[in-house]
Amino acid sequence: MADYYELLGVPRTATADDLKKAYRRRARELHPDAKPDDAAAAEQFKAVSRAYAVLSDPEQRARYDRFGEAGVTGNGAGGVNIDDLFSGGLNDLFSSLFGGGGGFGGAGRRGPSGPPRGQDLEVAAAVTFEQAVFGATVPVNLKVPSRCDDCGGSGAGEGTKPVTCVECGGGGQVQRVRQSMLGQMVTTSPCPRCGGLGEVIVTPCPTCRGEGRVTADHTYHVDVPAGVDNGSTLRLSGRGAAGPRGGPPGDLYVHLRVARHERFVRDGDDLVTVVPISFAQAALGTTIKLETLDGDEELGVQPGTQSGTELVLRQRGVPRLQGRGRGDLRVQLAVEVPTKLRAAEEELLRKLAEVRGEQVGPPDKGLLGRLKSALK
Ligand SMILES: [Zn+2]
Ligand SMILES: [Zn+2]
Repeated sequence: MADYYELLGVPRTATADDLKKAYRRRARELHPDAKPDDAAAAEQFKAVSRAYAVLSDPEQRARYDRFGEAGVTGNGAGGVNIDDLFSGGLNDLFSSLFGGGGGFGGAGRRGPSGPPRGQDLEVAAAVTFEQAVFGATVPVNLKVPSRCDDCGGSGAGEGTKPVTCVECGGGGQVQRVRQSMLGQMVTTSPCPRCGGLGEVIVTPCPTCRGEGRVTADHTYHVDVPAGVDNGSTLRLSGRGAAGPRGGPPGDLYVHLRVARHERFVRDGDDLVTVVPISFAQAALGTTIKLETLDGDEELGVQPGTQSGTELVLRQRGVPRLQGRGRGDLRVQLAVEVPTKLRAAEEELLRKLAEVRGEQVGPPDKGLLGRLKSALK
């Protein structure tokens, strides 16, 4: 460990005043507020603070001068434990050196903290697929702590007002003075009597019991923008819980649960649907009628269309939340193979296979097959 005098940059003959000045200078350079996230500076700061703690105490200083560091550490040596030094918080140390209650940098006294902000609230809202695509206004019901009308949020009973707290004089903070090895230390903490508000209620409002807010059922009409998806969250600023004693309200977060659609799924801003067509329609071409979210649409299927072919209707998908325009509507054609054939159909297919020279399985000679042919 470096020499305490060297750490502070003073000669061994330094006076108490020299030490104090030197420590202030070093501390300003190294304080964690001045050098955040600098671990090396933080360590140096501790070392310098320890050096000052020892040298500023005449008895400790004499011991250090005689025995070195060993004289001021360990049990029974009357040493300074650096952790004890800091357990009161760095601001304690700085209040004594730099004055004021504002910590490092002399920010000055803080006023009362004011009533706290209300909580943020969350609620889930169910919207239909179409509402999510095109946008809608949906009602959302929830219980919200809201400003008490009877006392206007102050929490004070009718005809009364909150009065200035006698304990802190309205400042919301109390200072505690104690003696330490660095001299007098001043600790500042929120006033326990008024909770830092600077005011106390003598006669609480009976409606809200002095809290300034009551919980009530509320229906908000939430504007759902076009293009939102399942899991989207809307933030309604200031629609959360009212703060106690007239504090500002929190925000309301609305999580959207979008219902599924029976025919469409979303792929980003595109809508995708699957339309079955028969083998004959795929081979010969056809026109299919499709019910889209914007109305009916006719789609031409070219002869020789393969299963899985995608027809794209541009700009008929979901409106883009960010930016202009809409996604596409993608229609996937699925060629269906019939699973049950009537005798006439089977006959035609066998003929087709024969013309095309294709090998096919033997006709069904089971009991059902024979019965069918007998009944024909
Ligand atoms: Zn009230
Ligand atoms: Zn107070």
